Amino acid sequence: MKFIDEKFLLHNRAAQRLYRQFARGEPIFDYHCHLSPKDIAQNRQFRNLFEIWLEGDHYKWRAMRANGVAEQFCTGAAEPFAKFRAWAATVPHTLRNPLYHWTHLELKRYFGIDELLDEESAARIWKKANAQLSRPELTTRGILKKFNVATLCTTDDPTDDLAHHKKIAADGVATRVFPAFRPDKALAVSQPEAFNAWVSRLEEAADTDIASLEDFVAALRRRHDYFHAQGCRLSDHGLNQCPASPCPDKTAAAIFARTRRGRAATPEEQAQWGTSLMLHFGRWDAEKGWVKQLHLGALRNNNTRLLKQLGPDTGFDCIGDFPQARSLVSYLDMLEREGRLPKIIVYNNNPVDNYVFATLIGSFQDGTVPGKMQFGSGWWFLDQKEGIQWQLNALSNNGLLSRCVGMVTDSRSFMSYPRHEYFRRVLCDLIGQEVERGELPDDDALLGTMIGNICYRNARQYLALPEPRETAPGGSPWRARGAAA
Ligand SMILES: [Zn+2]
Repeated sequence: MKFIDEKFLLHNRAAQRLYRQFARGEPIFDYHCHLSPKDIAQNRQFRNLFEIWLEGDHYKWRAMRANGVAEQFCTGAAEPFAKFRAWAATVPHTLRNPLYHWTHLELKRYFGIDELLDEESAARIWKKANAQLSRPELTTRGILKKFNVATLCTTDDPTDDLAHHKKIAADGVATRVFPAFRPDKALAVSQPEAFNAWVSRLEEAADTDIASLEDFVAALRRRHDYFHAQGCRLSDHGLNQCPASPCPDKTAAAIFARTRRGRAATPEEQAQWGTSLMLHFGRWDAEKGWVKQLHLGALRNNNTRLLKQLGPDTGFDCIGDFPQARSLVSYLDMLEREGRLPKIIVYNNNPVDNYVFATLIGSFQDGTVPGKMQFGSGWWFLDQKEGIQWQLNALSNNGLLSRCVGMVTDSRSFMSYPRHEYFRRVLCDLIGQEVERGELPDDDALLGTMIGNICYRNARQYLALPEPRETAPGGSPWRARGAAA
Protein backbone atom coordinates (compact mmCIF):
# COMPACT_ATOMS: atom_id res chain seq x y z
CA MET A 1 0.00 0.00 0.00
CA LYS A 2 1.27 3.47 -0.91
CA PHE A 3 2.12 5.97 1.85
CA ILE A 4 -0.40 8.87 1.95
CA ASP A 5 -2.36 8.08 -1.22
CA GLU A 6 -5.96 9.13 -1.86
CA LYS A 7 -7.16 6.39 0.51
CA PHE A 8 -4.96 7.65 3.36
CA LEU A 9 -6.62 6.85 6.75
CA LEU A 10 -9.79 5.71 4.91
CA HIS A 11 -9.92 1.99 5.50
CA ASN A 12 -12.99 0.93 3.58
CA ARG A 13 -15.11 1.86 0.58
CA ALA A 14 -17.81 3.65 2.54
CA ALA A 15 -15.22 5.87 4.23
CA GLN A 16 -13.55 6.64 0.91
CA ARG A 17 -16.87 7.49 -0.74
CA LEU A 18 -18.05 9.67 2.14
CA TYR A 19 -14.77 11.56 2.21
CA ARG A 20 -14.72 12.09 -1.56
CA GLN A 21 -18.34 13.18 -1.86
CA PHE A 22 -19.04 15.07 1.34
CA ALA A 23 -15.85 16.17 3.09
CA ARG A 24 -13.07 16.87 0.62
CA GLY A 25 -14.76 19.76 -1.20
CA GLU A 26 -16.08 21.65 1.83
CA PRO A 27 -14.46 25.03 2.53
CA ILE A 28 -12.39 25.48 5.68
CA PHE A 29 -13.73 27.48 8.61
CA ASP A 30 -10.74 27.89 10.90
CA TYR A 31 -12.28 29.64 13.87
CA HIS A 32 -9.32 29.27 16.20
CA CYS A 33 -5.72 29.78 15.13
CA HIS A 34 -2.66 31.83 16.01
CA LEU A 35 -1.73 33.01 12.53
CA SER A 36 -0.21 36.48 12.32
CA PRO A 37 -2.73 39.01 10.97
CA LYS A 38 0.30 41.13 10.00
CA ASP A 39 1.48 38.37 7.67
CA ILE A 40 -1.92 38.33 5.96
CA ALA A 41 -2.19 42.13 5.84
CA GLN A 42 1.23 42.33 4.17
CA ASN A 43 0.60 39.24 2.03
CA ARG A 44 3.90 37.88 3.29
CA GLN A 45 6.03 35.92 0.88
CA PHE A 46 8.19 33.35 2.65
CA ARG A 47 11.81 33.22 1.55
CA ASN A 48 12.33 29.58 2.36
CA LEU A 49 10.98 26.46 3.98
CA PHE A 50 12.47 27.47 7.32
CA GLU A 51 10.43 30.67 7.51
CA ILE A 52 7.12 29.09 6.64
CA TRP A 53 7.58 25.77 8.36
CA LEU A 54 10.01 25.82 11.26
CA GLU A 55 9.93 29.36 12.60
CA GLY A 56 7.84 29.21 15.76
CA ASP A 57 6.88 25.52 15.61
CA HIS A 58 7.31 24.14 19.12
CA TYR A 59 6.03 20.68 18.11
CA LYS A 60 9.09 20.31 15.87
CA TRP A 61 11.48 21.74 18.48
CA ARG A 62 10.29 19.19 21.04
CA ALA A 63 10.93 16.33 18.63
CA MET A 64 14.35 17.72 17.70
CA ARG A 65 15.40 18.09 21.35
CA ALA A 66 14.15 14.57 22.08
CA ASN A 67 16.31 13.45 19.16
CA GLY A 68 19.40 15.03 20.74
CA VAL A 69 19.52 18.13 18.53
CA ALA A 70 21.16 21.15 20.19
CA GLU A 71 19.09 24.26 20.93
CA GLN A 72 21.13 26.25 18.43
CA PHE A 73 19.32 24.32 15.65
CA CYS A 74 15.86 24.62 17.24
CA THR A 75 15.32 28.19 18.49
CA GLY A 76 18.97 29.28 18.33
CA ALA A 77 21.23 31.18 15.98
CA ALA A 78 22.06 28.52 13.38
CA GLU A 79 21.51 29.37 9.71
CA PRO A 80 18.05 28.57 8.28
CA PHE A 81 19.30 25.70 6.12
CA ALA A 82 21.29 24.19 9.00
CA LYS A 83 18.12 24.25 11.08
CA PHE A 84 16.13 22.71 8.28
CA ARG A 85 18.71 19.94 7.85
CA ALA A 86 18.58 19.23 11.58
CA TRP A 87 14.80 18.93 11.30
CA ALA A 88 15.10 16.72 8.20
CA ALA A 89 17.50 14.40 10.05
CA THR A 90 14.96 14.17 12.89
CA VAL A 91 11.98 13.31 10.66
CA PRO A 92 12.81 9.56 10.27
CA HIS A 93 12.85 9.39 14.07
CA THR A 94 9.30 10.75 14.25
CA LEU A 95 7.69 7.59 12.82
CA ARG A 96 4.26 7.14 14.43
CA ASN A 97 4.35 10.63 15.91
CA PRO A 98 1.74 12.85 14.19
CA LEU A 99 4.65 14.98 12.96
CA TYR A 100 5.54 12.23 10.51
CA HIS A 101 2.09 12.36 8.91
CA TRP A 102 1.80 16.14 9.03
CA THR A 103 5.27 16.63 7.54
CA HIS A 104 4.65 14.49 4.50
CA LEU A 105 1.06 15.58 4.02
CA GLU A 106 2.22 19.20 4.09
CA LEU A 107 5.08 18.64 1.63
CA LYS A 108 2.62 16.92 -0.70
CA ARG A 109 -0.21 19.42 -0.49
CA TYR A 110 1.86 22.62 -0.63
CA PHE A 111 4.64 21.58 -3.01
CA GLY A 112 3.58 18.32 -4.63
CA ILE A 113 6.65 16.67 -3.05
CA ASP A 114 6.23 12.91 -2.63
CA GLU A 115 9.71 12.13 -1.42
CA LEU A 116 10.30 11.20 2.23
CA LEU A 117 12.15 13.89 4.15
CA ASP A 118 15.46 12.87 5.74
CA GLU A 119 19.04 14.09 5.87
CA GLU A 120 19.76 12.78 2.39
CA SER A 121 16.72 14.38 0.68
CA ALA A 122 16.97 17.63 2.67
CA ALA A 123 18.88 19.71 0.13
CA ARG A 124 16.70 18.59 -2.81
CA ILE A 125 13.46 19.27 -0.96
CA TRP A 126 14.75 22.62 0.34
CA LYS A 127 15.51 23.75 -3.22
CA LYS A 128 12.30 22.45 -4.75
CA ALA A 129 10.04 23.96 -2.08
CA ASN A 130 11.88 27.30 -1.95
CA ALA A 131 11.48 27.73 -5.71
CA GLN A 132 7.72 27.35 -5.32
CA LEU A 133 7.56 29.70 -2.33
CA SER A 134 8.59 32.57 -4.57
CA ARG A 135 5.34 32.25 -6.55
CA PRO A 136 2.17 34.21 -5.75
CA GLU A 137 0.21 30.98 -5.08
CA LEU A 138 2.19 30.51 -1.86
CA THR A 139 2.05 33.96 -0.29
CA THR A 140 -0.10 34.01 2.84
CA ARG A 141 -3.15 35.08 0.87
CA GLY A 142 -2.32 32.62 -1.90
CA ILE A 143 -2.23 29.79 0.64
CA LEU A 144 -5.60 30.75 2.11
CA LYS A 145 -7.08 30.66 -1.38
CA LYS A 146 -5.34 27.41 -2.35
CA PHE A 147 -6.79 25.65 0.71
CA ASN A 148 -10.24 27.15 0.26
CA VAL A 149 -10.19 28.84 3.68
CA ALA A 150 -13.50 30.71 3.75
CA THR A 151 -13.01 32.21 7.20
CA LEU A 152 -10.38 32.31 9.90
CA CYS A 153 -10.22 33.83 13.37
CA THR A 154 -6.91 34.91 14.86
CA THR A 155 -6.17 35.22 18.59
CA ASP A 156 -5.67 38.77 19.81
CA ASP A 157 -4.88 40.74 22.92
CA PRO A 158 -7.55 43.28 23.94
CA THR A 159 -4.96 46.07 23.63
CA ASP A 160 -4.35 45.26 19.95
CA ASP A 161 -5.49 48.08 17.65
CA LEU A 162 -6.55 45.50 15.00
CA ALA A 163 -4.99 47.66 12.28
CA HIS A 164 -3.96 44.55 10.36
CA HIS A 165 -7.50 43.19 10.47
CA LYS A 166 -8.79 46.50 9.11
CA LYS A 167 -6.29 46.40 6.27
CA ILE A 168 -7.24 42.81 5.40
CA ALA A 169 -10.95 43.73 5.34
CA ALA A 170 -10.30 46.90 3.33
CA ASP A 171 -8.27 44.95 0.77
CA GLY A 172 -11.26 42.68 0.17
CA VAL A 173 -9.27 39.49 0.80
CA ALA A 174 -11.54 36.58 -0.15
CA THR A 175 -10.86 34.74 3.12
CA ARG A 176 -12.66 36.58 5.89
CA VAL A 177 -10.30 37.22 8.76
CA PHE A 178 -11.69 38.10 12.18
CA PRO A 179 -10.04 38.78 15.51
CA ALA A 180 -10.78 36.86 18.70
CA PHE A 181 -10.65 38.50 22.14
CA ARG A 182 -8.13 36.77 24.41
CA PRO A 183 -7.74 38.71 27.67
CA ASP A 184 -5.45 36.26 29.53
CA LYS A 185 -3.11 39.07 30.60
CA ALA A 186 -5.96 40.76 32.49
CA LEU A 187 -6.01 37.77 34.85
CA ALA A 188 -2.30 37.82 35.73
CA VAL A 189 -2.46 39.53 39.15
CA SER A 190 0.12 37.11 40.51
CA GLN A 191 2.71 38.88 38.31
CA PRO A 192 2.32 42.58 39.23
CA GLU A 193 5.09 43.85 36.97
CA ALA A 194 3.69 42.27 33.80
CA PHE A 195 0.13 43.10 34.89
CA ASN A 196 0.88 46.77 35.47
CA ALA A 197 2.73 47.10 32.17
CA TRP A 198 -0.31 45.60 30.49
CA VAL A 199 -2.68 48.00 32.30
CA SER A 200 -0.66 50.86 30.80
CA ARG A 201 -1.17 49.43 27.33
CA LEU A 202 -4.87 49.02 28.08
CA GLU A 203 -5.09 52.69 29.15
CA GLU A 204 -3.62 53.66 25.82
CA ALA A 205 -5.79 51.32 23.75
CA ALA A 206 -9.01 52.35 25.51
CA ASP A 207 -7.91 56.00 25.62
CA THR A 208 -8.67 56.35 29.32
CA ASP A 209 -7.00 56.58 32.73
CA ILE A 210 -7.27 53.54 34.96
CA ALA A 211 -7.23 54.42 38.65
CA SER A 212 -9.73 51.91 40.05
CA LEU A 213 -11.31 48.53 39.44
CA GLU A 214 -14.31 50.27 37.83
CA ASP A 215 -11.99 52.07 35.40
CA PHE A 216 -10.21 48.82 34.59
CA VAL A 217 -13.42 46.90 33.89
CA ALA A 218 -14.83 49.81 31.88
CA ALA A 219 -11.67 49.95 29.74
CA LEU A 220 -11.88 46.22 29.06
CA ARG A 221 -15.53 46.64 28.18
CA ARG A 222 -14.61 49.35 25.68
CA ARG A 223 -12.12 47.02 24.04
CA HIS A 224 -14.78 44.28 23.90
CA ASP A 225 -17.10 46.76 22.14
CA TYR A 226 -14.28 47.78 19.79
CA PHE A 227 -13.52 44.18 18.87
CA HIS A 228 -17.23 43.64 18.20
CA ALA A 229 -17.28 46.60 15.81
CA GLN A 230 -14.36 44.98 13.98
CA GLY A 231 -16.41 41.81 13.45
CA CYS A 232 -15.13 39.80 16.42
CA ARG A 233 -17.63 37.23 17.70
CA LEU A 234 -15.36 34.98 19.75
CA SER A 235 -13.45 35.21 22.99
CA ASP A 236 -10.85 32.75 24.15
CA HIS A 237 -9.17 31.92 27.45
CA GLY A 238 -6.22 29.68 28.23
CA LEU A 239 -6.60 28.44 31.81
CA ASN A 240 -5.33 25.56 33.97
CA GLN A 241 -8.80 25.33 35.45
CA CYS A 242 -11.82 27.54 35.14
CA PRO A 243 -11.74 29.86 38.20
CA ALA A 244 -14.90 29.67 40.29
CA SER A 245 -14.26 31.37 43.65
CA PRO A 246 -17.01 33.89 44.40
CA CYS A 247 -15.53 37.37 44.68
CA PRO A 248 -17.47 40.43 45.94
CA ASP A 249 -16.61 43.69 44.11
CA LYS A 250 -14.98 45.00 47.31
CA THR A 251 -12.55 42.07 47.33
CA ALA A 252 -11.78 42.48 43.62
CA ALA A 253 -11.14 46.19 44.16
CA ALA A 254 -8.71 45.41 46.98
CA ILE A 255 -6.85 42.82 44.90
CA PHE A 256 -6.62 45.32 42.05
CA ALA A 257 -5.29 48.09 44.31
CA ARG A 258 -2.66 45.81 45.89
CA THR A 259 -1.48 44.52 42.50
CA ARG A 260 -1.19 48.10 41.24
CA ARG A 261 1.05 48.82 44.23
CA GLY A 262 3.25 45.88 43.18
CA ARG A 263 2.13 43.10 45.55
CA ALA A 264 1.60 39.70 43.94
CA ALA A 265 -1.82 38.14 44.50
CA THR A 266 -1.96 34.91 46.51
CA PRO A 267 -3.29 31.79 44.76
CA GLU A 268 -6.64 32.34 46.50
CA GLU A 269 -6.80 35.99 45.41
CA GLN A 270 -5.77 34.95 41.91
CA ALA A 271 -8.75 32.55 41.76
CA GLN A 272 -11.14 35.21 43.09
CA TRP A 273 -9.89 37.83 40.66
CA GLY A 274 -10.10 35.37 37.78
CA THR A 275 -13.68 34.50 38.69
CA SER A 276 -14.73 38.12 38.93
CA LEU A 277 -13.29 38.98 35.51
CA MET A 278 -14.44 35.77 33.83
CA LEU A 279 -17.99 36.59 34.94
CA HIS A 280 -17.74 40.05 33.33
CA PHE A 281 -16.37 38.52 30.12
CA GLY A 282 -19.07 35.84 30.10
CA ARG A 283 -21.85 38.41 30.51
CA TRP A 284 -20.49 40.59 27.72
CA ASP A 285 -20.12 37.60 25.42
CA ALA A 286 -23.71 36.56 26.13
CA GLU A 287 -25.06 40.07 25.53
CA LYS A 288 -23.35 40.30 22.15
CA GLY A 289 -24.07 36.73 21.03
CA TRP A 290 -20.38 35.77 21.02
CA VAL A 291 -18.92 32.30 21.43
CA LYS A 292 -16.64 31.84 24.42
CA GLN A 293 -13.79 29.35 24.07
CA LEU A 294 -12.13 27.81 27.12
CA HIS A 295 -8.82 26.00 26.59
CA LEU A 296 -8.41 24.09 29.82
CA GLY A 297 -5.86 21.82 31.39
CA ALA A 298 -2.39 22.49 29.95
CA LEU A 299 0.46 22.71 32.46
CA ARG A 300 2.73 25.37 30.99
CA ASN A 301 6.33 26.55 31.27
CA ASN A 302 7.56 23.52 33.18
CA ASN A 303 11.26 24.03 32.60
CA THR A 304 12.39 27.06 34.59
CA ARG A 305 15.88 27.30 33.13
CA LEU A 306 14.68 27.13 29.54
CA LEU A 307 11.69 29.38 30.20
CA LYS A 308 14.16 32.05 31.34
CA GLN A 309 16.34 31.45 28.33
CA LEU A 310 13.73 31.05 25.59
CA GLY A 311 10.43 32.44 26.90
CA PRO A 312 6.97 30.83 26.81
CA ASP A 313 5.45 28.80 23.93
CA THR A 314 8.75 27.16 23.08
CA GLY A 315 7.77 23.57 23.82
CA PHE A 316 8.13 23.02 27.58
CA ASP A 317 4.49 22.36 28.43
CA CYS A 318 2.57 19.18 29.16
CA ILE A 319 -0.89 17.84 29.89
CA GLY A 320 -1.97 18.90 33.39
CA ASP A 321 -3.98 16.78 35.80
CA PHE A 322 -6.11 19.54 37.29
CA PRO A 323 -9.59 18.58 38.45
CA GLN A 324 -11.90 20.30 35.94
CA ALA A 325 -15.53 19.35 36.50
CA ARG A 326 -16.51 21.14 39.69
CA SER A 327 -15.01 24.55 38.92
CA LEU A 328 -16.16 24.57 35.29
CA VAL A 329 -19.69 23.60 36.35
CA SER A 330 -19.68 26.35 39.01
CA TYR A 331 -18.57 29.01 36.55
CA LEU A 332 -21.11 28.03 33.89
CA ASP A 333 -23.81 27.76 36.52
CA MET A 334 -23.13 31.28 37.86
CA LEU A 335 -23.71 32.68 34.36
CA GLU A 336 -26.66 30.40 33.72
CA ARG A 337 -28.41 31.57 36.93
CA GLU A 338 -28.09 35.16 35.72
CA GLY A 339 -29.57 34.13 32.36
CA ARG A 340 -26.31 35.21 30.73
CA LEU A 341 -24.59 32.01 29.66
CA PRO A 342 -23.03 32.55 26.21
CA LYS A 343 -22.39 29.89 23.61
CA ILE A 344 -19.34 27.97 24.86
CA ILE A 345 -16.68 25.72 23.35
CA VAL A 346 -14.59 23.82 25.92
CA TYR A 347 -11.31 22.30 24.72
CA ASN A 348 -9.83 19.54 26.80
CA ASN A 349 -6.14 18.77 27.11
CA ASN A 350 -6.23 15.61 29.23
CA PRO A 351 -7.83 12.54 27.58
CA VAL A 352 -8.83 11.26 31.02
CA ASP A 353 -11.36 14.11 31.07
CA ASN A 354 -12.96 13.47 27.66
CA TYR A 355 -16.11 11.92 29.13
CA VAL A 356 -16.20 14.61 31.82
CA PHE A 357 -16.25 17.35 29.18
CA ALA A 358 -18.63 15.48 26.87
CA THR A 359 -21.18 15.04 29.67
CA LEU A 360 -20.61 18.41 31.32
CA ILE A 361 -21.74 20.35 28.24
CA GLY A 362 -24.99 18.38 28.29
CA SER A 363 -25.87 19.90 31.68
CA PHE A 364 -26.06 23.36 30.12
CA GLN A 365 -27.72 22.75 26.75
CA ASP A 366 -30.86 24.86 26.99
CA GLY A 367 -32.69 24.37 23.70
CA THR A 368 -32.01 27.89 22.44
CA VAL A 369 -29.21 27.20 19.95
CA PRO A 370 -28.38 23.82 18.37
CA GLY A 371 -25.13 22.66 19.96
CA LYS A 372 -24.95 25.75 22.18
CA MET A 373 -22.44 24.01 24.42
CA GLN A 374 -19.62 22.42 22.43
CA PHE A 375 -16.91 19.95 23.31
CA GLY A 376 -14.10 21.28 21.09
CA SER A 377 -12.00 19.13 18.79
CA GLY A 378 -8.84 17.38 20.02
CA TRP A 379 -6.43 20.10 21.12
CA TRP A 380 -2.61 20.37 21.32
CA PHE A 381 -1.34 17.05 22.70
CA LEU A 382 -4.62 15.47 21.52
CA ASP A 383 -4.47 16.87 18.01
CA GLN A 384 -3.58 13.55 16.36
CA LYS A 385 -5.38 10.51 14.98
CA GLU A 386 -6.04 8.83 18.29
CA GLY A 387 -6.92 12.08 20.09
CA ILE A 388 -9.36 13.04 17.34
CA GLN A 389 -11.00 9.61 17.52
CA TRP A 390 -11.28 9.83 21.31
CA GLN A 391 -12.93 13.25 21.15
CA LEU A 392 -15.37 12.16 18.41
CA ASN A 393 -16.25 8.98 20.30
CA ALA A 394 -16.75 10.70 23.66
CA LEU A 395 -18.94 13.31 22.02
CA SER A 396 -20.93 10.71 20.04
CA ASN A 397 -21.56 8.59 23.13
CA ASN A 398 -22.68 11.46 25.34
CA GLY A 399 -23.87 14.23 23.06
CA LEU A 400 -24.70 15.04 19.44
CA LEU A 401 -21.86 14.48 17.02
CA SER A 402 -24.07 15.91 14.26
CA ARG A 403 -23.98 19.34 15.97
CA CYS A 404 -20.20 19.38 16.34
CA VAL A 405 -18.55 22.53 14.95
CA GLY A 406 -15.56 20.56 13.72
CA MET A 407 -11.85 21.12 13.52
CA VAL A 408 -9.53 24.09 14.01
CA THR A 409 -5.80 24.23 13.18
CA ASP A 410 -4.93 26.13 16.41
CA SER A 411 -1.66 26.73 14.59
CA ARG A 412 0.97 29.45 14.29
CA SER A 413 2.04 28.21 10.86
CA PHE A 414 0.55 28.77 7.42
CA MET A 415 1.61 25.19 6.63
CA SER A 416 -1.01 23.63 8.92
CA TYR A 417 -4.08 23.67 6.69
CA PRO A 418 -3.87 19.93 5.90
CA ARG A 419 -4.88 19.35 9.55
CA HIS A 420 -8.45 19.87 8.38
CA GLU A 421 -8.00 17.20 5.72
CA TYR A 422 -6.52 14.92 8.37
CA PHE A 423 -9.49 15.44 10.70
CA ARG A 424 -11.98 14.89 7.87
CA ARG A 425 -10.33 11.61 6.92
CA VAL A 426 -10.40 10.36 10.51
CA LEU A 427 -14.05 11.38 10.81
CA CYS A 428 -15.08 9.68 7.56
CA ASP A 429 -13.14 6.56 8.50
CA LEU A 430 -14.94 6.33 11.82
CA ILE A 431 -18.35 6.68 10.14
CA GLY A 432 -17.40 4.42 7.20
CA GLN A 433 -16.30 1.59 9.50
CA GLU A 434 -19.66 1.58 11.21
CA VAL A 435 -21.48 1.61 7.87
CA GLU A 436 -19.51 -1.47 6.78
CA ARG A 437 -20.40 -3.20 10.05
CA GLY A 438 -24.09 -2.38 9.68
CA GLU A 439 -24.01 -0.16 12.77
CA LEU A 440 -24.97 2.94 10.78
CA PRO A 441 -27.36 3.03 7.82
CA ASP A 442 -25.70 3.07 4.40
CA ASP A 443 -27.52 6.29 3.57
CA ASP A 444 -25.54 9.00 1.83
CA ALA A 445 -28.16 11.70 2.35
CA LEU A 446 -28.17 11.11 6.10
CA LEU A 447 -24.45 10.59 6.67
CA GLY A 448 -23.25 12.99 3.99
CA THR A 449 -25.30 15.82 5.45
CA MET A 450 -23.83 15.23 8.89
CA ILE A 451 -20.28 15.07 7.57
CA GLY A 452 -20.65 18.24 5.51
CA ASN A 453 -22.15 19.99 8.50
CA ILE A 454 -19.29 19.00 10.81
CA CYS A 455 -16.68 20.00 8.22
CA TYR A 456 -18.05 23.48 7.57
CA ARG A 457 -21.74 24.39 7.87
CA ASN A 458 -22.19 23.90 11.62
CA ALA A 459 -19.34 26.29 12.43
CA ARG A 460 -20.63 28.85 9.96
CA GLN A 461 -24.10 28.79 11.46
CA TYR A 462 -22.98 28.59 15.08
CA LEU A 463 -20.49 31.45 14.99
CA ALA A 464 -22.77 33.73 12.95
CA LEU A 465 -19.88 35.97 11.92
CA PRO A 466 -20.91 39.20 10.19
CA GLU A 467 -20.87 39.80 6.44
CA PRO A 468 -18.69 42.43 4.79
CA ARG A 469 -20.35 45.76 4.04
CA GLU A 470 -20.52 46.81 0.43
CA THR A 471 -19.11 50.18 1.42
CA ALA A 472 -17.50 51.09 4.71
CA PRO A 473 -17.32 54.89 4.90
CA GLY A 474 -15.17 55.20 7.99
CA GLY A 475 -17.25 52.88 10.18
CA SER A 476 -17.13 49.17 10.80
CA PRO A 477 -16.44 47.11 7.69
CA TRP A 478 -18.86 44.45 8.97
CA ARG A 479 -22.63 44.17 9.33
CA ALA A 480 -24.66 41.54 11.15
CA ARG A 481 -25.53 38.57 9.00
CA GLY A 482 -28.86 39.17 7.29
CA ALA A 483 -28.86 42.91 8.15
CA ALA A 484 -28.96 45.56 5.43
CA ALA A 485 -25.59 46.55 3.96
ZN1 LIG B 1 -4.88 28.21 20.58
